[in-house]
Amino acid sequence: MAAPVDGVPDAELLRECADAAVHAVSAAAIVTRAVQRHEHRGKIDKADGSPVTIADFAAQSLVIRELTRRLGERAPGLLRVVAEESSAYLRDPAHARERRAALAAAQGVWPDARDDEFLAMIDRGASTLEGADAPKAFWTLDPIDGTKGFIRGQHYCVCLALIARGVPVVGALACPNLSLDPERPLDDIAPDERGVVLIATPNEPVFVRPADDPDSRGRPMERLRRRDDALVFCESWESSHSDQSATRRVMTVLGDRGGGVGGRLIGPPARIDSQCKYAVAARGQADVFLRRPRDPRRRDWIWDHAPGHLIASRMGLRITDAHGVACDFSRGRRLEGNHGVLAALPEVHAEVLGALATLT
Ligand code: AMP
Ligand code: MG
Repeated sequence: MAAPVDGVPDAELLRECADAAVHAVSAAAIVTRAVQRHEHRGKIDKADGSPVTIADFAAQSLVIRELTRRLGERAPGLLRVVAEESSAYLRDPAHARERRAALAAAQGVWPDARDDEFLAMIDRGASTLEGADAPKAFWTLDPIDGTKGFIRGQHYCVCLALIARGVPVVGALACPNLSLDPERPLDDIAPDERGVVLIATPNEPVFVRPADDPDSRGRPMERLRRRDDALVFCESWESSHSDQSATRRVMTVLGDRGGGVGGRLIGPPARIDSQCKYAVAARGQADVFLRRPRDPRRRDWIWDHAPGHLIASRMGLRITDAHGVACDFSRGRRLEGNHGVLAALPEVHAEVLGALATLT
């Protein structure tokens, strides 16, 4: 049985990792979708005002459990996980109701889950990346990216990537409310009730699969050929997450040059929560994904970009931060050397970056 060489998985093991990742994010997609259908969508009011739901906890537990079940014997060294949530909130006796609700949600796909195991799985996501014990390869997980979108009943995704020697090598995104049909408009929420999982593995095409059936083979993803030729930008729905006026000004600068970018006119921007923006740019529903946080000191978490970055770059997009700097996943839990992101078709990336640089 092959073990990871020097902590880094070989090609065969990477394929197994990708398969485990597909099953993991699909389990989370099924459960989070069920919670999102409830009237209150599992919303929790945390004292610090940060948005979280019982689905965040259920999804984190399920993803880590699937990875453990599928890789535990094969590659126990590959089970280090750096994830967004911890069980501290649920372990507070004042939050027993939320704890029961999160466990009940997870039992939708893990019927015999016990409370202690459920919480222990969440806490396996607390690997450290510092010191002598720092792993050469680890998973990073955002159990629900776009929580505000989730609570609004719109797009969100489950995001999981394997990072080896500082570089994302396997990336899985479950987008439960995106249609399998890329021609459907983005504001059509879950029109086919299935959702998509995108998976990037080394030396294979990016695959797209239905999120409700992780055993289906899926198909290699192709970029959509849109009938209109306009260049489509996508950006955050939430204006507090990304400076929407910057996007508008970039579009105006480019439009004012006449003839648009590379001869293409500029269409209205699509606003969508979460790493679904990478997914829609990867499959050709958008051409440019721009995120410029208002705070110049803002450093994003690695789990907010790793799988989307890998999938979109494998589909041919050029990706840097909003200042043209390569995204560096090797500096701990945050992208310490980067601010924002610009993922764009290679033929327009430099021009968009140039327009961004003219903004004050
Ligand atoms: P979005 O792409 O708009 O769905 O944004 C989701 C991400 O925005 C979350 O993963 C958060 O880490 C991040 N975020 C939350 N608050 C802020 C903020 N004030 N500025 C920039 N990003 C933020
Ligand atoms: Mg997040």
